[in-house]
Amino acid sequence: MKTLIYFWKRFMLPHIGLFVLVLVTGAVAAAASGAGVPFMVKYVFPVVFRGNETSTPELLNVIPALQSFSPDALLLLACASMPAVFVVRGLAMWGNAVLVNILGIRILETLRMQVFCRVQELPIAFMESRRKGDVISRILADTSNVQNILTTVSNDLIKQPITAFCSIAAFIFLLVSSGQGVLFLVNLIFIALAAWPIMEFGKRISQKSQRAQQGLGELNTTVQQNLENQREVRAYAMEEREIQDFREVSGRLQTNLVKLVKYQKALIPVMEVVTALALAFLLVRGRMCGLTLTDFMAIAASLFFMFDSMKRAGTAWNRFNEAQGALKRLAEVMYEPNTIPQPEHPKKFDGRARGEIRFRDVSFGYDPEKLVLRGVNLTIPSGQIVGLVGPSGSGKTTFASLIPRFYEVTSGAIEVDGIDVRELDSHDLREQLSLVGQQALLFAGTIRENIRLGRMNASDEEIMAAADSAAVSKFLDAQPRGIDTELGQGGAGLSGGQRQRVAIARAFVKNAPILILDEATASLDAESEREIQEELDKLAQGRTTLIVAHRFSTIRNAHRILVFDYGRIVGDGTHEELYASCPLYRDLYDRQGIES
Ligand code: ADP
Repeated sequence: MKTLIYFWKRFMLPHIGLFVLVLVTGAVAAAASGAGVPFMVKYVFPVVFRGNETSTPELLNVIPALQSFSPDALLLLACASMPAVFVVRGLAMWGNAVLVNILGIRILETLRMQVFCRVQELPIAFMESRRKGDVISRILADTSNVQNILTTVSNDLIKQPITAFCSIAAFIFLLVSSGQGVLFLVNLIFIALAAWPIMEFGKRISQKSQRAQQGLGELNTTVQQNLENQREVRAYAMEEREIQDFREVSGRLQTNLVKLVKYQKALIPVMEVVTALALAFLLVRGRMCGLTLTDFMAIAASLFFMFDSMKRAGTAWNRFNEAQGALKRLAEVMYEPNTIPQPEHPKKFDGRARGEIRFRDVSFGYDPEKLVLRGVNLTIPSGQIVGLVGPSGSGKTTFASLIPRFYEVTSGAIEVDGIDVRELDSHDLREQLSLVGQQALLFAGTIRENIRLGRMNASDEEIMAAADSAAVSKFLDAQPRGIDTELGQGGAGLSGGQRQRVAIARAFVKNAPILILDEATASLDAESEREIQEELDKLAQGRTTLIVAHRFSTIRNAHRILVFDYGRIVGDGTHEELYASCPLYRDLYDRQGIES
């Protein structure tokens, strides 16, 4: 219920005007069906089918003004009233359906936007704890499912009960006016009988649907992983295994969908049996009490609309339960607490940061029970170039990731220019940082646009200068449209080294005081690495630079080297100092010397 109220407030309330219109048109359509048709049968048909009856049709008693009409005019009026009711009903239904769809489309847009925006501000740890395919499935499939219910809720879940209400009112009126109290009471039992499967199936459908949506998320993840790793799949001949995986996940989804559909589709037959029972009872009772055909037909029409609208309301209720599964999955994203909260009154750097970094007794674990960094204390003065070395998994990347506050320290504090990073606005903090990782992350767009991402207001001259500094210009001539060559998704069309150069040019344009190079040349061949090393050295000049190093050649210009082991810093000094005093460093260095 809490989820529902939250979504109602957030997504329906902004469209309240449209929603009211939906209700009004729904109510008109509902009244025209639920009450209009039975009354037509009861009052209008007898005017037409008077036959040999000498009695005055009831309609003339109900509306005395009609008595002054000639018989032909009355007949015409009676015959025209049927299409008139259906014109009103048809127009209202059309308006209702169109408006409901507009409402649905708008809600879907708001919902998707909000979930997507939320994903942007959630901590990186949240994204890492979930599979990408599952998140995509939440943003696209779950929102679309929720749109379905919200529109069903706003349409059938409201229109059908109004129809039921109108037809019940007509039904009571018709029974009372023909003295059929017993029929009324017995039908109350049928109404209760019809409500039971609606409630019971609803519960089950909600559970099954959540499982089906989850299955869809798994399927998305499987496809995505497969597409992202096509090279590995082919290289290791994993096609068969991938197909097997896909078959299993898809099979699970199918099983859940079949279960879901069984419950969904059971409702209508059950409700129809109840309707038939009620009609059969009406027949027996009509025979026993000598109901007139007109009364019988009118009551039957109201019964039909009553159970029909209950059936439709029940189906809508089921759809609603089905989408509750999706709502719960969306709520997980919307309610996820932001573990990297922004300060209410952030401190600001005095213009450009100097780039002094201090770790004060910092401990950190991705899982707070399992620390990955322990008791790190150190100061990196502005402009110092620092190499981070140590065995794989010793915490170098983690150390560097804490500075942009990608993760929150478990204890201790990290300061930039003496300000705790938790007291800075994260955007402001990250403005002071450039990051070049192992894989250059390029987006679809031109090379120029990709460089400009470093600083959106950079001039074309600045971009060209950055392209020169990063030696991007060297390979631009070979590109069909120079710097305006369009790249594919992820920078497709450029070699690994070329992509890395574009990323370096981006960092040049950004010109931030702190630079983090996380194994920036690790995925390159020796020649590209040597070439790019020059550009990186240039980029590091005058900035506080942290170099997560996999090869010692990348830190030949470092002023200082930190040696990591099991989350602790076990060595801190220059190459000569460490080689003399730190056995781990000496060991790492010598081993690499032999390998290379
Ligand atoms: P290094 O850069 O020295 O190779 P990392 O900082 O990447 O080491 O990793 C340190 C430890 O933290 C390792 O045990 C690794 O398994 C773990 N780790 C790294 N990244 C994550 C993550 N995103 N979630 C959970 N554990 C992680």
